[in-house]
Amino acid sequence: MADPRGFLKHDRKVAVRRPISERIHDWQEVYPGTPGKALLPIIQDQASRCMDCGIPFCHSGCPLGNLIPEWNDLVYREDWQAAVDRLHATNNFPEFTGRLCPAPCETACVLGISQPPVTIKNVEVAIADRGWENRIIKPQMPEWHSNKTVAVIGSGPAGLAVAQQLTREGHTVAVYERDDAPGGLMRYGIPEFKMEKKVLDRRLRQMRHEGTIFRSGVNVGFDITAAELRERYDAVVLAIGSTIRRDLPVPGRELRGIHQAMEYLPQANRAALGEAVEFQITAEGKDVVIIGGGDTGADCLGTATRQGARSVTQLEIMPRPTEERPDNQPWPTYPAIFRVASAQEEFGDRLYALSTTRFTGDTHGRVAGLDLVEVAFSDGKFNPVEGSEKHIPAQLVLLAMGFTGPQREGLVEQFGLELDPRGNIARNGDFETSEPGVFVCGDAGRGQSLIVWAIAEGRSCAAGVDKYLTGESKLPRPIEPTDRPLMA
Ligand SMILES: Cc1cc2nc3c(=O)[nH]c(=O)nc-3n(C[C@H](O)[C@H](O)[C@H](O)COP(=O)(O)OP(=O)(O)OC[C@H]3O[C@@H](n4cnc5c(N)ncnc54)[C@H](O)[C@@H]3O)c2cc1C
Ligand code: SF4
Repeated sequence: MADPRGFLKHDRKVAVRRPISERIHDWQEVYPGTPGKALLPIIQDQASRCMDCGIPFCHSGCPLGNLIPEWNDLVYREDWQAAVDRLHATNNFPEFTGRLCPAPCETACVLGISQPPVTIKNVEVAIADRGWENRIIKPQMPEWHSNKTVAVIGSGPAGLAVAQQLTREGHTVAVYERDDAPGGLMRYGIPEFKMEKKVLDRRLRQMRHEGTIFRSGVNVGFDITAAELRERYDAVVLAIGSTIRRDLPVPGRELRGIHQAMEYLPQANRAALGEAVEFQITAEGKDVVIIGGGDTGADCLGTATRQGARSVTQLEIMPRPTEERPDNQPWPTYPAIFRVASAQEEFGDRLYALSTTRFTGDTHGRVAGLDLVEVAFSDGKFNPVEGSEKHIPAQLVLLAMGFTGPQREGLVEQFGLELDPRGNIARNGDFETSEPGVFVCGDAGRGQSLIVWAIAEGRSCAAGVDKYLTGESKLPRPIEPTDRPLMA
């Protein structure tokens, strides 16, 4: 155990972000240097608050089953090498989760019953960043070669996790990506200010060194068919994400200036990295309305702020959550409470319980505003509140309303894969689809989710693939395909 009196001596403290007035003028991460560096002066005290509980509920809060009390203790004792090892025993990419995870572990922390919980996510990123900076994290070369080949389609966190696990197990793994560079949503969805691409590229270098092959710019199902894949590889893993975007088919949707978030963010990410983007959608000087209150919406907000929007309003159909846990979502569940992302503390307004009834346009066919109505939830649906209609101006509208499943054209159709009732690719307990030897992991099988779940899916799927190729597997399986978050 770290310090038995640590939680009595130290209050919870988190990494301090750069001043808003400074950070909205650049694209770098919101912490000075790296989050790990920003945390160094406080991280030992924070790790010492861990009580090393008899039943560490944080383990079950974390989909990866991260060994949290163990690495808290090691950080407290400044044994960084052992902390890096214990962290990587369950998580291939802690520098991603330490920056981007909503930390369901912290809402399950036992200390959280009576005090603010341990800053688990901060400790995680501090270990990962220090591990990289001090060259403790190194390639792990496979000890033998199985002569089995695997194609992984999609290079988001699920595809990268399954590929790293299988490469280290001695299989020859090629990761195919239709974008011009690997990383999935972490490359062209998530903005630099949340995670700089150099963090992703550093991990990709490690994977290449270990032997994973990357083939970018290949749209599998079109450039290579499913039949060709089957011929070339012993197993195929689909990690193609959930890419069908939810739309808002109300009058005026056809007006110019209304875009899907995933049309806007990839362009902004490229421009932030210095690429010239022709006809870039930009928020500069505009009143921007973002429809959707989740991570994607917050990323649009931070991006529009940095592009110099005149105003930004984020609309959410659900009512504003409470600041404290609602009674029906007790500890250790992950509660729906009011949270403030870094982008939301910088600029803009958030409006709740509102539905868009119509987009209005100017005489040139461009969007000029939105007609809204307040809604109340009853009888299983949102109903308009009479007399609550309002209008807000907007010259740019971004739809950030989520995704409804993986793309069907191409691979899913060519393999003839079964879908589950929610439209995701169906799989058995080994993450194998209805086609033997074809596996699925990440958002394509689970539905739109989180990076931590994608990594957990990739790790578990690797065990299924390894068993298929060799008859048995010792690889870990942190989750079953049906596991869901600790929700009330
Ligand atoms: C804007 C945005 C912000 C987010 N922010 C967060 C966050 O802060 N924290 C968090 O935990 N989660 C966040 N998420 C969710 C998270 O990014 C996803 O849950 C996660 O990336 C899913 O991983 P994946 O590997 O299953 O799929 P993806 O990351 O979607 O990767 C799938 C990849 O497959 C490729 N692909 C698809 N079809 C083919 C094909 N036929 N041939 C070749 N390649 C193909 C795609 O181009 C893509 O690169 C965010 C999502 C979005 C959209
Ligand atoms: S991956 Fe997420 S849930 Fe797991 S320990 Fe890290 S922050 Fe917590």
